[in-house]
Amino acid sequence: MSKTYALPISRPSIGVGGKTGYWRIKKPEVNHSKCIRCGMCWLYCPESVIDIIEGSDKYVVINYDYCKGCGICSEVCPTKAIVMVNE
Ligand code: SF4
Ligand code: SF4
Repeated sequence: MSKTYALPISRPSIGVGGKTGYWRIKKPEVNHSKCIRCGMCWLYCPESVIDIIEGSDKYVVINYDYCKGCGICSEVCPTKAIVMVNE
């Protein structure tokens, strides 16, 4: 008999991981004109705090309340549309 496994994707939730607070030193900024809407940042964000907004000028929206500033989204972006900037 086969089993079904749920993907271990974390999701931001108030009171679970908690908000990031003031310790983050860099945050990702999106240059929307360079975004090719590939979804790689959304896929790789370990905090699952990137939303994809279909049909919007801003395809990628980051929830800074929960973003930890790890920079993975910036690293995986093929067009370098996401850059890490100082807080
Ligand atoms: S910096 Fe890290 S936590 Fe923040 S949006 Fe990018 S991948 Fe997610
Ligand atoms: S990885 Fe870069 S190009 Fe792809 S959706 Fe995210 S911001 Fe846009």
